[in-house]
Amino acid sequence: MTNVTIVGGGLTGGTLAYALAQKGLKVALIDQIDPKAPLISDGRSFALSRSSYNIFSKLGMWPEAATPITSIHTSDGVLPRWVDYEAQDVKGEPLGYVVDSALLKKNISEKVLSSKNIKLYAPARVVAFKREGALTQVETEAEECIESPLCIAADGKSSALRKWADIPLTRWAYDQVAIVCNMTHSRPHNHRGFEHFLPSGPLALVPRPGNESGLVWSIQEEKAKVLLSLSDTAFAEEVQAAFGEALGKLKLSSQRFSYPLGVCLPRQLIDTRLALVGDAAHTFHPVAGQGLNVGLRDVATLVDILTEAFSLGLDLGSQTILKQYQRQRRLDIYFMALLMDGFVRAFSTQSRSIARVRSLGFGMVRNIPPLKRFMIRHAMGSTGHVPYLARD
Ligand SMILES: Cc1cc2nc3c(=O)[nH]c(=O)nc-3n(C[C@H](O)[C@H](O)[C@H](O)COP(=O)(O)OP(=O)(O)OC[C@H]3O[C@@H](n4cnc5c(N)ncnc54)[C@H](O)[C@@H]3O)c2cc1C
Repeated sequence: MTNVTIVGGGLTGGTLAYALAQKGLKVALIDQIDPKAPLISDGRSFALSRSSYNIFSKLGMWPEAATPITSIHTSDGVLPRWVDYEAQDVKGEPLGYVVDSALLKKNISEKVLSSKNIKLYAPARVVAFKREGALTQVETEAEECIESPLCIAADGKSSALRKWADIPLTRWAYDQVAIVCNMTHSRPHNHRGFEHFLPSGPLALVPRPGNESGLVWSIQEEKAKVLLSLSDTAFAEEVQAAFGEALGKLKLSSQRFSYPLGVCLPRQLIDTRLALVGDAAHTFHPVAGQGLNVGLRDVATLVDILTEAFSLGLDLGSQTILKQYQRQRRLDIYFMALLMDGFVRAFSTQSRSIARVRSLGFGMVRNIPPLKRFMIRHAMGSTGHVPYLARD
C-alpha cells in the first residue's frame, strides 16, 4: 500500500520522497526525467540558507564541495549606499553556502535510488489526476495508475496537478530575464558574495570553489537578448562595466543560460487530498536566491506533520492534516514573495524620491544591529516556526 504519491522528483520532490521514506512511509515518486540519465548542468549555483544546509546534512545529501559565504556586500546602483552582512553579525556562522545545482541533484538522485521504501516511476509523465473517495489516482502516459490517500505536487512552476485541481493563481511577470553563468576573477572572493541593485535589475555574484563566482544578472528582456548574443569576451566586458573592479578582472568560465522571471502564488497550498510544495507552491524572483530555500522549508514542515500522522495511524490525506500544513507555511511564503518583489520594484527605478526611501532603508539596516540580525536570521531560515529537519 502506497502512503504518499509525489509527482515531480526534482530538488524538492526527491528530497521529500527520501525524507518520508526514511521515516518508514511507502512513497511512489514519479518524474518524466530518468534519474540515471547523465546530468546536464542548468548553470545555476544555488545560494542555500542554514536551514537548507541542516535539511540536506541530516539526510546525508550535502555536497562536500559547497562554498561557505562569510560576508555579503549589498549596494544601491544609483546612490553610494551599501550594507555589509558579516558572519560576525551572527556569532561567526556562515551566512549561507553556494552549491552547484547539478551536484545537489546527483546527491538527491543517489539517495532516492538507494531507498527500498520509494517506488520510482521514471521516466514517466503524469497525464491525469483523479480523486475518488479516500484515494487519489495518478495516471502516467504509459497507463500506469498509482493510488494513495495523499498526492503531493512537486512538479514545478507550471504544475499540471495544480492546474487539474483548478487552484486559482496570483501571478505576474517581470520584463526581466536572469542570465546565469560562472565567471573567474583575478582577485580572490574570500567567501564574499555581492548583490548590486542596478537600475537595469539586480546583479549578484556568489562565491564558488577557487577564483570563481556564479553570476545571476536579472535584466530587461531585450537587453538580455543582446548580452546573450555577444562573444565571451564582450560579455565579460559588459559584466565588468556593470559590476566594477572588486574582484579584479572578470572572465566568462561557463556556458550562459537564461531564465524568464515571474511570480506565481497559488491562493491555496492544499486541495482535496493534495498538497503543493516547492515551485508548484510558489515561484519568486531569484533576487535573493530564496526559491529552493523556501521549498525545502515546505518539505521539512510536511515531513514533521506526515510523520506524526503516520505514527498515529491517521488518514494522511485528511483536511485536518492538510490544513495544518497550509497554516504553518503560508506566512513564510507570502512574506518572501512580497519581500523579493519589493526589492525588485524599489531598486529598478531611478526616481529620486524612491531612492531617498531606499537610502533610509539602507541606513536603518546598517545602524540598527537587531534589525540587521533579524534580516540575516530570516534569510538563514532561523526565524518563526522551524521544523525539525531544518533545525541546528
Ligand atoms: C535563475 C535562478 C536562480 C535561482 N537561484 C536560487 C538560489 O540561489 N537559491 C534558492 O534557494 N533558489 C534559487 N532558485 C529557485 C530554485 O531554482 C527553485 O526554487 C527550485 O529549483 C525548485 O525545485 P522544484 O523541485 O520545486 O521544481 P523543479 O526543479 O521544477 O522540479 C519539478 C520536477 O517535476 C517534474 N515534472 C513536471 N511535470 C511533470 C509531469 N507531468 N510528470 C512527471 N514529472 C513532471 C520535472 O521533470 C522536474 O523534475 C533560482 C531560480 C532561478 C530561475
